[in-house]
Amino acid sequence: MNELEQMYQEIILDAARERYGEGELDDPDGESFQVNPTCGDQVTYQVNVRDGQIAEIAWAGHGCSISQASISMMSELVEHKSLEDFDKLYETFRHMMDTRGSEISDEDADLLEDASSLQGVSKFPMRIKCALLGWMALRDATNQATE
Ligand code: ZN
Repeated sequence: MNELEQMYQEIILDAARERYGEGELDDPDGESFQVNPTCGDQVTYQVNVRDGQIAEIAWAGHGCSISQASISMMSELVEHKSLEDFDKLYETFRHMMDTRGSEISDEDADLLEDASSLQGVSKFPMRIKCALLGWMALRDATNQATE
């Protein structure tokens, strides 16, 4: 493992421990339950949307450290962002997972903040679903919230 990969590894493990946003909302505007059967990861993601903005988020889940780290980092990143910004972040993260391990642009890395540390996951097709699980859950939850 090179230095950069080691640094990413630490960010990922820290986020998996931190579990930012873990909790429950009383009466969420949107909620989505997603499972990744190949790995056994699951998450219930809840969101409140106010004035086109992700006002409150909460989630409960379990699974491998990549899935849990990804949910934690995404939660920190998207809180109080507009739905438009979330769409952009979602597309950028998805794009990163499609790169098969090649570097993403500095602009995309800046946009994704800590979540860009998961770029190495794109080399491992089996783990891409782990990293995408939380993003898919939040996307589904925000769609429900705005219906
Ligand atoms: Zn997993």
